[in-house]
Order: sequence, then C-alpha cells, then structure tokens
Amino acid sequence: MNNLVQTLDSVDFLKMDRRTFMKAVGLIGAATFLGSFKSQIVDALEFAETKLVWLHGAECTGCSESVLNAGNPDIVQALQKLNVNLVFHETICAEQGIWNDGKLVNTADLNSEILLEETYKAGNYILVVEGSIPNGPDGSGRYLVIGNKTFKETLGEAAKNAVAIIAVGACATWGGITNAASDIEKDTDYRGVAFKKADPTKGMLKELGIDKPVINIPGCPAHPDWVLLTLGAVILGKIKVPEDLPAVLDQYNRPKVFFSPDHVVHDNCPRRGYYDRGELDDQIGGPGCLWKLGCKGPYAHADCGIRRWNGSVSLCPQAGGPCIACVEPNFPDASMPLYVETEDKGILLGADIGTVAKVAVGAAAVAAGVHAVRRMKGE
Ligand code: SF4
Ligand code: SF4
Repeated sequence: MNNLVQTLDSVDFLKMDRRTFMKAVGLIGAATFLGSFKSQIVDALEFAETKLVWLHGAECTGCSESVLNAGNPDIVQALQKLNVNLVFHETICAEQGIWNDGKLVNTADLNSEILLEETYKAGNYILVVEGSIPNGPDGSGRYLVIGNKTFKETLGEAAKNAVAIIAVGACATWGGITNAASDIEKDTDYRGVAFKKADPTKGMLKELGIDKPVINIPGCPAHPDWVLLTLGAVILGKIKVPEDLPAVLDQYNRPKVFFSPDHVVHDNCPRRGYYDRGELDDQIGGPGCLWKLGCKGPYAHADCGIRRWNGSVSLCPQAGGPCIACVEPNFPDASMPLYVETEDKGILLGADIGTVAKVAVGAAAVAAGVHAVRRMKGE
C-alpha cells in the first residue's frame, strides 16, 4: 500500500486517465486520496466551486452520520479540499426558517425555500439524495410532506437542473428498509431515486418523467469513502457524467470500483480461513466463520473486506456480526431472516440460495478435507 501511495504521489493526478484513477480510489481510502493529491486538487479547483445540495427523504440519517463520522478527512476537511459549497443539508445547515419572530423571512440566508429555489434556478449543482421517496397513497406522495410539499415534488424540482445525481444509502438507492415487504408496502410504495428494489423501471425519477442518470452508493449505511471518493471523482471530472457512467457503473448503477461484480465481502473476510476449514460457529461471540449464523458475505458485492470501516479498523463479520449484504438491491428482503443460515431461503440476486448454500458448505467441507489432508501430510 505504501509503495502504491508513493507511486501515486509522484504521478500527475490531473493527467491520470480514468482507468488508473479508478484503480487508485479502489485501493486507497478517502484520507490517503485527498492527502496525496491535496496540492493538485487545490490547484485544479482554485477557480471552481462546486455546489452540493443534499436532500433527506424517508430515512434514519444514518448515511449522513456515517459521512459525518468519517474521521480523516472529516466531512468539513473533505469539502474544503474539494472546494465544495454545501448549499443545503438539513441536518447540518445553519438555522433556517420560513417564519422568524412571526414575520415571513424573505432572504436566502434565512429561508431555505428561497435558498433552494435560487440554487435550482442557477443550476450547476450536484444533488445527493439520502432516503427513499414514498409514491403512496395512490401516487400522490403524501406519505412524506415537508413544508406542505411532498418529497416526491421536492425531488422532482431538485433533480431537473442537477448536473449529477448521487443516491446514498439503501433507502435512496432501492427503497431499502422503508420498502421492505409488509402488509402496507403496496400502499406506501416507497421508491429509490432510480430503482425500486432491483427494478430500474420503477425508480421515482422515471415516475416523475425525468430522464437523468443516477449514481447509486448503497449500504446501510454507506461507507464514507464510497461517498467522498465518488463525489471527489465527479467533482474532479474523473467520472464525467453522463458519458463515463456506462463504463464505471454496474447494472445497478453502483461504481464497480467499490462494488465489483467479481468481488464479495467473503473474499477478504478475516474469518475466511475458518470457513475454508469448515469451522462454522453456531453461537455469536466465537472466533469462527459466521455462515451458520446467517452471514451473507458470499453474496455481498462490496469492498468492505479490503477497505474496512471506522478508519479501516474492522468490518461487520470481523466485529462478530454476520454480514447482511446491505449493499444489494433486494436488501433487506433478500437478507431476511437476518441471522439465520441461508439454506432453503429462495432467490437472492437470481441465485438459488439453497443450491448456493449447499455448494458453499460443500466447498467448505472439501476445503476442510484438503486442509486436513495437508495437515496429515505435514504441509
Ligand atoms: S464470516 Fe461470512 S464473510 Fe466471513 S468467511 Fe464466514 S461466510 Fe464468509
Ligand atoms: S460487511 Fe456486509 S453488512 Fe457490513 S457494510 Fe459490508 S456489505 Fe454491509
């Protein structure tokens, strides 16, 4: 890793082609990236300020918290380095109101409705959406109304003039927890920005008749690196929207560099050795593989095992929690029941889990056999 960073440091990052750039961000964290390229970023962005509007729909604000918890760089350092003007973010913006001391507030400094109107009119901003968008009841969107406006309308207004749209977290990408199977699912009809579960024809923008590409950064929550590095790549023109998107995104609009079709959490799990030896824990708290406790790491296309969380310290299975495949488009339905072995569980991402599980457990047994033979041979 050090060699890589030194090599990258000596490269003129502005001249780096997209392929090399994407390779670099796939291997390093936001801190290293922003640290290594700080002076070049500052030079590149000396004149250009990027405006960012971050909207919240139906969600728990966990993805904002995840990004706010990004230790190094923290969100403020990252935005400063990228020369971003975070125009609006409900959770962290300065006090705003429509009324102040009983009087209508009529400047953009104090009234966020005016601020957003002016921003949308001027255009040239990146829109980040966190949270899903209810279409119910009956297509009205009135299950989520903020300031007498449905969030469905708010998203439509914001999306029209955005130069790039990034959906952050499981709820904004596919509907997530809010769209989980339930008796009221059809009535509430929660949507992601561009998808509803794995269906790209049911995203809210399609429903609104807006044809714009969307970058999906899933996760429950999304990793701060995934968010900051994607923002960085878009802001610095390393991912040009829309022309580069077909090359850099997978079929679910996820950046392949973080959510590779060929890589799952299981590939780099620190408990993988136990899996290969067939040492499968049946109680939480042990050192072994968590497969029998419902781990979905073999189906989760994310680089958590390489990148790790909380300042690259750990990841879910390492900390003792089975992976719940929170990055997949049918989450959480496809991961339910969460902490139960996946045999006989039906279809996840088009794969028959029963078959896959049997193959996986079979492979573990075979691997355990091979290891046993090796041990016996003293290898
Ligand atoms: S704990 Fe999960 S991800 Fe890790 S080796 Fe076991 S099945 Fe794979
Ligand atoms: S390890 Fe699994 S559950 Fe944890 S963040 Fe990664 S994909 Fe999500």
